[in-house]
Amino acid sequence: MTNIIFFGPPGAGKGTQAKKISDFFKLQHLSTGEILRLKISQKDELGLKLKDIIASGKLVSDDVLNEIVAEKIVTCKDTGFILDGYPRTLNQSRFLEKILKNNFLKLNFIFNINITFDTLKNRIINRSKEEGREDDNLDAIKTRYDAYIQTTTEVSNYYSSENPEIFFDIDGSDQIEEITNKIKKIIVK
Ligand code: AMP
Repeated sequence: MTNIIFFGPPGAGKGTQAKKISDFFKLQHLSTGEILRLKISQKDELGLKLKDIIASGKLVSDDVLNEIVAEKIVTCKDTGFILDGYPRTLNQSRFLEKILKNNFLKLNFIFNINITFDTLKNRIINRSKEEGREDDNLDAIKTRYDAYIQTTTEVSNYYSSENPEIFFDIDGSDQIEEITNKIKKIIVK
């Protein structure tokens, strides 16, 4: 059983890689962004609140995210999982540690996909044309990128210093297939 975290700013390709790797290794892909977008489409009270926060590019509260992840991780205890988009704050990472401990689980790999702001800006603008995501516009991209640098980099730095043996920096400017192959090689080694 393999449990993985993917870090990377918006547009770094972490969602694409997480999907490919989870399909290949038959792991559950837990994309918090996707789970939140699904909640928005249900148009209930929580969904309506989330819609504006996500469209602005800001982070949703830790309480909402922690509850979602606690519920999901239990369902993939026996298959292994890829966390894509979580943890994004130190509070979330502390919460994750507790869930893992309570369920006798551990992390096996952490992939940190790096990319410059210019490269991701162009990628996200193209993605907005293909997927029509409301938060894929320039203002929201800047807010999401800043949220990543200000908040989530602290989290990836924490894992990098605490778990250097399972932490791998990946160049996100490479071609998609090339990145997938690099990640696969690290996992099967
Ligand atoms: P993503 O698809 O991972 O880029 O997530 C899209 C948006 O969902 C983010 O810009 C946040 O508003 C929200 N979101 C996803 N995951 C988290 C998280 N772990 N903590 C807070 N907000 C999140």
